Amino acid sequence: MRAGGQRTLVTGGAGFLGSHLCDALIRRGDDVLCVDNFHTGTRSNIAPLLEHPRFELLQHDVTLPLDVDVDRIFNLACPASPIHYQHDPVRTTRTCVLGAMNMLALAERRRARILQASTSEVYGDPEVHPQPEHYWGRVNPIGLRSCYNEGKRCAETLFFDYRRQHGLDIKVVRIFNTYGPRMYVGDGRVVSNFINQALRGDDVTVYGDGSQTRSFCYVDDLIDGMLAAMDSPADFTGPVNVGNPAELSMRELAERVLRLSGSRARIVHQPLPPDDPKVRQPDIGLARQALGWQPRVSLDDGLRQTIAYFRALLNP
Ligand code: NAD
Ligand code: UDP
Repeated sequence: MRAGGQRTLVTGGAGFLGSHLCDALIRRGDDVLCVDNFHTGTRSNIAPLLEHPRFELLQHDVTLPLDVDVDRIFNLACPASPIHYQHDPVRTTRTCVLGAMNMLALAERRRARILQASTSEVYGDPEVHPQPEHYWGRVNPIGLRSCYNEGKRCAETLFFDYRRQHGLDIKVVRIFNTYGPRMYVGDGRVVSNFINQALRGDDVTVYGDGSQTRSFCYVDDLIDGMLAAMDSPADFTGPVNVGNPAELSMRELAERVLRLSGSRARIVHQPLPPDDPKVRQPDIGLARQALGWQPRVSLDDGLRQTIAYFRALLNP
């Protein structure tokens, strides 16, 4: 470790989760280097940090090699919403795989600890429910979601091979659906879609019959879980699920958003996208036991915060 404080690299630091992570790292005293190519991230997400003396921004694409002096690396760079990652699928796979290789090579050179932001999508459309880490998943290798799912699976493989081959200090965190302020209005994810539709009085678009389920984690809880994983002892690598096990159907989510926002918008049904997982819920037993972590924010409280954020964006 460098003398005089820890220098932490966050790739994808201008994105939804990355910007909240940068905030938390600055709050706890780290020097933060945020690397982003602004593919889906924005300067406005990190605007409050730009003048901070311990914050530095480097515009860079992680598919290219990087050499910087850091002690810890959080690798988040990758578009996360289906609309974004399917827009240029070859680029998504490149970001997942080459990005992981470049960041692992950097970690090896600097002997830095490195954490991979993996995803519940590694479980695909699961036939084991809820999903524990030892479940290998059911992923379509040639579908529309594969660029992301298989890219993230390959990144996990690279992390564990770097550990076996080069003794690298790695952590792999499987993030389940997370929501909160700084999600993008137009990125097509369900929480931002439903809230913005409800606030504008537009039809709320439930895909399929709305019986498919997800389990939503508020962003502050997720960031606490990522930090706990990064700070865990060196013999703990994960993969570890981080998410909120409170599961509900998309129909129930739509009704909840309408109630909490006081909207009279209508619910309408649209076709279900291909390979859309039917159920998803994290088994967080390992996170509880190994990290002493569990989510604290209820869905209603988290949705209220998120509705307030989008309301302020719509009526500045
Ligand atoms: P996001 O799209 O808001 O952020 C991704 C960030 O990465 C953006 O700032 C983008 O500009 C940057 N980026 C993309 N490609 C890049 C490249 N080649 N080089 C440099 N920067 C690049 O998404 P998010 O929701 O903040 O997700 C962050 C990470 O967490 C992703 O790796 C995602 O797979 C993972 N994750 C998120 C969720 C979730 O629910 N939000 C769930 C599972 C996993
Ligand atoms: N979804 C929906 N209406 C929307 C957007 C999404 O019903 O306007 C559904 C989508 O089909 C999926 C769930 O909500 O079943 C979560 O979708 P999201 O894109 O947020 O995340 P992911 O599918 O990657 O979990």
